[in-house]
Amino acid sequence: MPDPLPTLSPAELSRYSRHILLDEVGLEGQRRLAAARVLVVGAGGLGSPAALYLAAAGVGTLGLADLDRVEEHNLQRQILHDTAAVGAPKVESAARRLAALNPHVRLRVHPEGITPANALAVFAEYDLIVDGSDNFGTRYLANDAAFFARRPLVHGSIFKFEGQVAVFDPAGGGPCYRCLFPEPPAPGTVPGCGEAGVLGALCGVIGSLQALEAVKCLLGIGQPLRGRLLVIDSLAQDYRTLECPRDPHCPLCGEAPRIRALDAANYDAACAPAPATGGAATPAGVPVEVTVEEASRLAAAAGHALVLDVREPYELEICQLAGSRHIPLRQIPARLGELPRDRHILVLCHTGQRSRRVTEFLRGQGFSAVSNIAGGIAAWADRVDPALRRY
Ligand SMILES: [Zn+2]
Repeated sequence: MPDPLPTLSPAELSRYSRHILLDEVGLEGQRRLAAARVLVVGAGGLGSPAALYLAAAGVGTLGLADLDRVEEHNLQRQILHDTAAVGAPKVESAARRLAALNPHVRLRVHPEGITPANALAVFAEYDLIVDGSDNFGTRYLANDAAFFARRPLVHGSIFKFEGQVAVFDPAGGGPCYRCLFPEPPAPGTVPGCGEAGVLGALCGVIGSLQALEAVKCLLGIGQPLRGRLLVIDSLAQDYRTLECPRDPHCPLCGEAPRIRALDAANYDAACAPAPATGGAATPAGVPVEVTVEEASRLAAAAGHALVLDVREPYELEICQLAGSRHIPLRQIPARLGELPRDRHILVLCHTGQRSRRVTEFLRGQGFSAVSNIAGGIAAWADRVDPALRRY
């Protein structure tokens, strides 16, 4: 049996009175929330509204796991953070905001994020996990760790204008994330957040739904999205709930599981940028992919290499490399005649994914001296020219 539920001070009773007035919550439910320990993985677009509502709701212990720092381009949706927090660790910025919102909540920060090495021990310290991660590696790690730690996981994810929410709780019945999606997509086949774009208000909707499901699970009320996947198309305002039973062949929670422990190899490569195609040089001796350092050297040397920037015009307004030529990705097929066949072309985009597609396309069109710049202008800003504005 858990410890006896905590008593609430007069100040807490006043603060939570609109909860306590609900028959389904009541004083005992509010005390149950005060006893609860919830970990929010990711203090970003989904973690922001989720953590704000959970803290406001009076969840007794709230953990935040994130290793990133606040960047300016986060502020469009990550409402835990403000302009003054740019550059600060996200967990610190988040803890400041949440402490100001509700001083009755005990905040715990995990600035190292979750890793295959720490996830089980960290998850064991909480009753429920809210997954607000924005990449497949962390998402699969959170799912697997929650399964091994026997903790319910409130899943949320977003792609462009679509969002998904579910509760994965194999120990309490129902599927895990791998029952629906057994393996991460192949590296490089899906755009990352920086590539796809995301609408801020949709993060608010999905993260808030995650907080709602978490509160329902903690209170034991209503019908949580256990064994059901809520799919939201925000452009059409179409909300569907799909039944998703447990898969007996699931590699994690199935009858003959292949995954029996958190092996770092299962997560590190997930959704990492695609490997340079073998790193192999073509017959002409031109590598398919070069580092930003190498690209910088090639572009500076005797003016022979041409940097072809395939980003959108608005991205150029944020930052660009001097001397680069700009043709947006979608115009490349129609403007091949503008590209030199006697120069080494270095293709640049934001993070190296669109430019990889252009590199492959140009090589398929007979341009043999074409290389992708791995990591794009984001890596260039990190490692070559810190004066470039990041986004
Ligand atoms: Zn499963």
